[in-house]
Formats: sequence, structure tokens, C-alpha cells
Amino acid sequence: MIERSAQPPCGQACDLLEQARARIQHLEQQVSIDALTGLWNRAHFDKVIEAEIQRSLRHRQPVSLILFDIDHFKLINDTWGHPAGDRVLRELAMLCRALTRRSDALFRWGGEEFAVLLYDAGYRNAQRIAENLRQAIAVHAFSIAQPVTVSLGVAEHHATQSVDEWFARVDAALYAAKHQGRNRAHTDHNGNSDTWGTQPGNFVLRLVWQEAYASGHLLIDQQHQTLFSLANQLIDQSASTAITAGDVQGAFKQLLQHIAMHFACEEELLAQVGYPHVHAHGQAHRRLLSRAQKMFDDCQNDQISLGKLVQFVAIDVVAKHILQADRDFFPLLAANA
Ligand code: GH3
Ligand code: MG
Ligand code: MG
Repeated sequence: MIERSAQPPCGQACDLLEQARARIQHLEQQVSIDALTGLWNRAHFDKVIEAEIQRSLRHRQPVSLILFDIDHFKLINDTWGHPAGDRVLRELAMLCRALTRRSDALFRWGGEEFAVLLYDAGYRNAQRIAENLRQAIAVHAFSIAQPVTVSLGVAEHHATQSVDEWFARVDAALYAAKHQGRNRAHTDHNGNSDTWGTQPGNFVLRLVWQEAYASGHLLIDQQHQTLFSLANQLIDQSASTAITAGDVQGAFKQLLQHIAMHFACEEELLAQVGYPHVHAHGQAHRRLLSRAQKMFDDCQNDQISLGKLVQFVAIDVVAKHILQADRDFFPLLAANA
């Protein structure tokens, strides 16, 4: 006979599982954190940096790194003793925490070297932050009776560089700061923020797809996302001075064809799942399509402004239709996905 009572009741098993999870989380944190300063350690940097580069490239949001090193720290140890040196490292870590945003990641790189990973910051912004750090550290009253200064290197991630290539640039910038006399920041003036700033794909008016817009139905969500990207292409091309009227018409035509295909597909799906307002929704589609066709004709006669185009695509199609009217059937679609 099977001994059933050997199994802990579910509540107890869940508690044990929860405790084990908490313990694993605690251990993971311990291996990621520098014991002396409480900052992230280099192993943690290695763990997060690849994903951060990918995120930056995907969202076209720059990411920068500051690497800094205490000036003549050996002399500080020699003068005040090793425990006083340790105290300086801890005080410096606390000061840097107070001086940086909560979202920035601070690392003890090793010895008396630190790194700051600045999310959504290009090298210009990073340079300002590095200079603020330098000044604040130089005037801070540390527990030893002498000022402490640091030299800093700044580099933004550039092109599709590997972590090692990026790090070599920030290291070279730090070396330059030391070489130029210490207590200064040196910046590498290259970065994706410059590249993206001058590419047509980075025009300021953009529709940005967010997870909150998803219906839960794979096909409809893919079509909505394609609509966003075709609309962005059209807006970019209309705003660009380097593009011909023919290109704008081509982009408009592509968007129109996609919208027509998507509306037809959506109506078919809504009929299949028994959406009660399918008829009214279809009528709304046809009204939008006929306005779109009229705009396309105006576009061919060169009688359309960027403002009108954005109003139609971003406000009427996306904001009012996809993000409002469509939401009415999202739960029904998701339930039948
Ligand atoms: P530079 O301006 O060129 O950076 O000169 P420096 O003296 O700071 O650089 P160097 O690399 O010659 O010396 C670094 C010193 O940092 C030597 C080492 O003993 C000390 N150090 C490294 N880790 C620790 C630590 O955890 N605690 C203490 N107190 N000192 C440390
Ligand atoms: Mg050093
Ligand atoms: Mg040093």
C-alpha cells in the first residue's frame, strides 16, 4: 500500500518552495554584489550587458558607460592605512549612489575602479554626468583628511560593437584622462545617438508599439504592428527632404493595401467568433478606407500636408480606431485565439 501521508500537504509544500525560491534569489544577489561597497560586481555586469546592448539597438535608445578610477589610491593606502582606504571605497560608493539616477547601474569594477551604466543616455549626457561626479567627488569631505579625486572615461555604445570593443573604448578614454593629468573626464565622441539622430528612421514623430496594445490574437497583433511600421515609414518619408513625391506615394500605397487587407481579415475573424457589432465595425472600416483613398488621391496631386497625413494615420486610424474601437472585441478575440 502506498504511504500517502509521506507527501506534505500542498500548503506546506508551497511554503517550502517559496522559501527555496527566496534563498536562491538571495544567493544570486550575493554572487552579484560586491561585499565591500554593496554595489553590483563585475560578474553582474557580464550578466546584464549583452541584453542591455540588444535592448538599446532594438529601441534605438543610446546606452553609455562611465569607467572611473581613484587617483593615486596607492598613496592613500600608504598614508592612511588599508582600512582607511576601504572606508574611502565605501564612502565613494555611497556618494555615487546619491549622485546617479536609481535606474543607472553602479558597479565596482575591481580594486579602486568603478563603472556606471547609463540607460537611455548618449555620450553628451554621459559626459555631463561624469563631470558632475568628478566635481562632487573632488569637493566631498571623506573621512580621511585629504581630498579624493577620480579620473573618468566616457563612451557610448557605437554601431553593433561587442562588449569588449565598447569596453576598450571606455578604457582608452579613462587612460587618456589619467594621461592628461588626472581629476578629469575624457569622452569618446562616437555613438549611436549621432547615427540615429541623422537617419530618417529617427524622425521625432513615431508610432511606438507597446505590449498594452496587444489583443492577444497573434494574427491581428502582427497586422497591427505591421501597420505601425508602415505608418512610420510613410511619416518618415513625408518629413524627409531627400525623398521624392513618388516615394511618398509608394509608401502610402503600401500602407493603404495593408490596411484594406487587415480590415477584411479582421471582419472575417469577427464574424467567425460571433462579434455582435461586426456590421457597424465593418462600416467604420469602409469610412476610414474611403477617407484614405481620398487622401491618396490628394497625395498624387501633391495636395497633402504632413500634418493632415499624421492626423489621419496616427490619430484617426491608430489612436481612435485601433486603440479604442478595436478594444471592444479584444476579449472575444483573445478567448478564441
Ligand atoms: P592611478 O592614479 O594611476 O590610478 O594610481 P593608483 O595609485 O590609484 O593606482 P595603482 O593601480 O598603482 O594602485 C591601486 C591601489 O589600489 C593598489 C591596491 O592596493 C589598492 N586597492 C585595490 N583594491 C583595494 C581594496 O579593496 N581596498 C584598499 N584599501 N585598497 C585597494
Ligand atoms: Mg587602478
Ligand atoms: Mg587609481
